[in-house]
Amino acid sequence: MKNKKILIVGAGFSGAVIARYFAELDYKVTVIDSRGTVAGNCYSCRDEETGIMLHIYGPHIFHTDYEEVWNYLQKFGNWKPFINRVKAVSNDISGKKQVFSMPINLHTINQFFGKTFSPQEAQEFITNQADNSIKEPKSFEEQAMKLVGKDIYRAFFYGYTKKQWGVEPRELPASILKRLPMRFNYNDNYFSHKFQAIPEDGYEVIVKNILAHKNIEVKLNTPFAREMQDKFSHTFWSAPLDLYFNYEFGRLNYRSLNFEIIRDSGDFQGNAVINYCQEDIPFTRICEHKHFEYWREFDKTIIYREYSKLCGKDDIPYYPIRLTSSQKTLDCYIEKARQLKNVTFVGRLGTYRYLDMDITIKEALNTAQEVEKNLRTGKCQNAFYVNI
Ligand SMILES: Cc1cc2nc3c(=O)[nH]c(=O)nc-3n(C[C@H](O)[C@H](O)[C@H](O)COP(=O)(O)OP(=O)(O)OC[C@H]3O[C@@H](n4cnc5c(N)ncnc54)[C@H](O)[C@@H]3O)c2cc1C
Repeated sequence: MKNKKILIVGAGFSGAVIARYFAELDYKVTVIDSRGTVAGNCYSCRDEETGIMLHIYGPHIFHTDYEEVWNYLQKFGNWKPFINRVKAVSNDISGKKQVFSMPINLHTINQFFGKTFSPQEAQEFITNQADNSIKEPKSFEEQAMKLVGKDIYRAFFYGYTKKQWGVEPRELPASILKRLPMRFNYNDNYFSHKFQAIPEDGYEVIVKNILAHKNIEVKLNTPFAREMQDKFSHTFWSAPLDLYFNYEFGRLNYRSLNFEIIRDSGDFQGNAVINYCQEDIPFTRICEHKHFEYWREFDKTIIYREYSKLCGKDDIPYYPIRLTSSQKTLDCYIEKARQLKNVTFVGRLGTYRYLDMDITIKEALNTAQEVEKNLRTGKCQNAFYVNI
């Protein structure tokens, strides 16, 4: 019977989707999580006092072009269309503080420079602003200067990026900013994907429904212990990669977040997300959670001020810091993991990559399928089914 028993560490989207796949093929699946809740960092729940749905680990908007992922999620709960229209506070070219559209669009450009450009005029203007002396950008800063020029870079990217990553943008790789981060029209939809939505009853309900299967046992408040693996033929690991090896080669670096939570009445900022781009404002953004639920009315409000910081050993890891300097440590873990036969590393922590929810789900489905096939045919296992 052991060969049909699967252990999954982590009850986020990665763990839940893999659990469901195996359960439907009649494997017996045990999912453990060290937290008392499912859904990992996507977890959201209703505030007892106000009834507002709170995104406890930061705001989560589902967005994808993958029709199969969208269709998959429809089976597990109701989704409400949600378009994220982010605003950003910064100073315009004359130094006056204003609220702009984000990502930078024609409205932002016109407002920032005090102009009434057409799309083509704006494009020509920005081309002239760009620093054409930079041929091969070596850093985030050079890449931004080459794409948008000094003024827009200073107003919208410099301070925000420095707060977010805790280093000077000239120390970050150019690859972080691949494309021109602006639009020459009035489209203020933050994402450009076909499907964009939020679960009506929160992410916890969606993940609970994915896990609701007779062949799945969920054990919360249960951190992983090595001896647990003995009873299972295969383990899927969606907890931190370095934790599996007891940090043998040192810790992989992450950024973490602190939230300052403020309760108030009425409407605090009139929008779900407002970024604060300037360096002298210590937080990166304010999220007012009731605006994610535009279909409900609330008299009261709750806002989260978001502060970015280096992840300490007792903090929750949020964003992997994949700098060239940390590649060596990562390589040591990858090599060690590849020697394991009965463990597959998945998800944002198990593969040490930033992953949106749709990619997480897509990779979890593909990985489950591949591993199941290999288990059935007795083929050699692979610790990673994705390029990390
Ligand atoms: C601030 C922020 C905002 C985001 N916003 C969006 C968004 O708007 N849209 C989007 O598509 N994506 C967003 N994401 C990405 C999204 O959070 C991830 O795609 C998703 O959480 C990945 O799921 P996962 O299961 O791989 O990891 P996780 O959700 O982190 O799940 C891993 C689980 O492992 C558990 N675990 C850890 N250690 C142990 C242990 N020792 N034993 C047992 N269990 C353990 C953890 O408790 C956790 O539940 C955002 C991410 C961040 C950081």
